[in-house]
Amino acid sequence: MRKTHRDEWRVTAIVKPRRPADLGLTGIGELAEFVATSGPITVAVLPRRLGSLGWVSMSDSLASRDIEGDYRRRCEAIAAELRKLPHVDEVAVAYTETHFCSHCNLQWDVLTEAEATDDGCVQDEHSIAGEPVCCEAAIAEFRAERGIPQLAGAGESA
Ligand SMILES: [Zn+2]
Repeated sequence: MRKTHRDEWRVTAIVKPRRPADLGLTGIGELAEFVATSGPITVAVLPRRLGSLGWVSMSDSLASRDIEGDYRRRCEAIAAELRKLPHVDEVAVAYTETHFCSHCNLQWDVLTEAEATDDGCVQDEHSIAGEPVCCEAAIAEFRAERGIPQLAGAGESA
């Protein structure tokens, strides 16, 4: 079946600086008043790695039993702090999703509507759009759930 992995956790935000200090330009507050940018400044704030404890660094899987959840919570905490800043707007937690097959671990990919009518793409005449293409186990699971006849030879040892 399709499994989802979330990675590359980050907090995106738009910085709208009004004073030089909003950009970290300090020491000129007595002399300067405003700072202008040519457009919105979009930043991605990356969380500290779960396994990076300052005094020691280890893999995330050693430091956490719920890597996805811990990164989500860490990013939400970062976002909550950023939302308090008057010159920061549109704060959002973001991540990259990848889908993979629980049987073969390859990237999850399925037949499109067009491919399902293309003899060069389908497994047999029972293939329909949405059928996985990575491995026989995924196809067998997909077909079993929908009552579609299995591939000829499915179940035999390869
Ligand atoms: Zn597979």
